[in-house]
Amino acid sequence: MNMRAVVAAWLPAWLLLGSAALGQGGGLPPMQIEQLTEHVYRYGGLTNGAFVVGSDGIAVVDGQTCGSNGTAWLKEELAKRFDVPVTYTILSHDHEMHICGLEVFSDTARAVAHANAKAHIVREGRRTATPEITFDTTMQLDLGGIEVVLLYLGPTHTDNLIQVHVPSEGVLIAVDFVREGKSLAMPELRDADIANSIKALGILGRMENVDIVVPGHGNVTDQQAFLYFRDYLQALRDRVLEQMVAGKSIEEILEIVTMEDFSDYGWFDQWLRANVITMWEQMYHYREPTEGAGRYESEFPIGFPVGEVDKFNGP
Ligand SMILES: [Zn+2]
Repeated sequence: MNMRAVVAAWLPAWLLLGSAALGQGGGLPPMQIEQLTEHVYRYGGLTNGAFVVGSDGIAVVDGQTCGSNGTAWLKEELAKRFDVPVTYTILSHDHEMHICGLEVFSDTARAVAHANAKAHIVREGRRTATPEITFDTTMQLDLGGIEVVLLYLGPTHTDNLIQVHVPSEGVLIAVDFVREGKSLAMPELRDADIANSIKALGILGRMENVDIVVPGHGNVTDQQAFLYFRDYLQALRDRVLEQMVAGKSIEEILEIVTMEDFSDYGWFDQWLRANVITMWEQMYHYREPTEGAGRYESEFPIGFPVGEVDKFNGP
């Protein structure tokens, strides 16, 4: 059977499962709502969102994957369950997988995000609500009897990731910065800030009034997960950097930096290679070697020479 026939034979059953059994398109996990504390709920399918219910209104944290219809599903569920409107939507960061569909709440809610998020959302044409309210370091939202604190700890997973804390309930919603227990947090580190991520993970690991951590993917966890991931990230950075200083190529580093002492971490087998390559790329831009600095022009890492540059007499 050729590949096209395999796909044709498999597709109808998958579509049936997606629309009838799962209640949403795309063959994604079923949408669910889980109450975590008196006022805080987790919701989602492929990804985790959350919502906080006060006496005056509801704040929804993040949408769902595009094409899932999950955010519209949430709107219907909230209307059935609560008699207060959604007054805020909170965008954890600009990555579309986590924020799709939030515009369905625009009739009653204002979208809140970090000041850096809007440029990414507009430039990349993200399918979500455009932020109306932005902030730089911290912001408090009063939902009536319950306060939601938004925190920006500097550039980490992206330059606009925020943490959503509900101190009175002991819940921290920490999207794409941690996963349950010991785990790699993300497939690769492309738009991350490594040094500040390590610092921010330490701060989150010691923050007060945090009993439950809601990651953007997978099960809820606790603060120790931040410290587990920090230890991994710090070790990965130090080991890749050490080999680069020793003159090793990326091919050699992939052989040498095996990170075996972290092999019990979740997603280790799937993501280590991309984590090493993207850490190498980050460190390539972080350092200037003492020997061979001039090779940058002729040996740019993507194999595309920049060309001869006269560093001392050029423009
Ligand atoms: Zn992300």
